[in-house]
Amino acid sequence: MKFAVKKVNRNIPNEELLADVKNIASTYGLTTMSQDIYVQYGKFHPTTLIRRFGSWFKVLELCDLKPSRSRINIPNEELFANIEHIWLTLGRQPKYSDIQKPLSLFSVGTYEQRFGSWYNALDAFVIYMSEEESVIKPNVRINKDGIKHTTKREPSARLKVQVLMRDGNRCRLCGVECNDGLHNIHFDHIIPWSKGGETTLENLQVLCSDCNLAKGNCK
Ligand SMILES: [Zn+2]
Repeated sequence: MKFAVKKVNRNIPNEELLADVKNIASTYGLTTMSQDIYVQYGKFHPTTLIRRFGSWFKVLELCDLKPSRSRINIPNEELFANIEHIWLTLGRQPKYSDIQKPLSLFSVGTYEQRFGSWYNALDAFVIYMSEEESVIKPNVRINKDGIKHTTKREPSARLKVQVLMRDGNRCRLCGVECNDGLHNIHFDHIIPWSKGGETTLENLQVLCSDCNLAKGNCK
């Protein structure tokens, strides 16, 4: 029996995602593109591109397209992707005062209008982040030592934010608070990657750079 294999979005190179948008724009002579148009003509789902690039606005920018006219109906996914981006940039939960340009694409007022308050927006974000990503068949990779992995070594942005949401920006070994954005935060594999540990929420922890270095030396 032959199965039609749907492309695994995770592995599609950035260039290929953007090329699809550009291709539609040039085919139809568009100077901008709404997500609705992309849903009709695109090979991928807009959410895939938004997750990868941070926002639909950013996708258009990277494709040399103008922002779509109406910014009133910004989809929740785009508002959440923006929070994810800020969380990852700061290495901690964004505060009310962080939600401004240039760090944030949207004003805090946009979140207040949509969710009632900034705290409600954060609550909605937490629920959004805890939803499972669309099921992707594990892709077994075998390294040179014959160790099998079903995940990639480098955690995705989404997974990093999930680890930060659980651990905060505090080292799980020494408890120091990492206040220097992501510079001092390391996403450590509890069971080392080299010993078959996977890149999953359960097997990742926040470490400060000192503890990460010390752990590395002990292996
Ligand atoms: Zn530490």
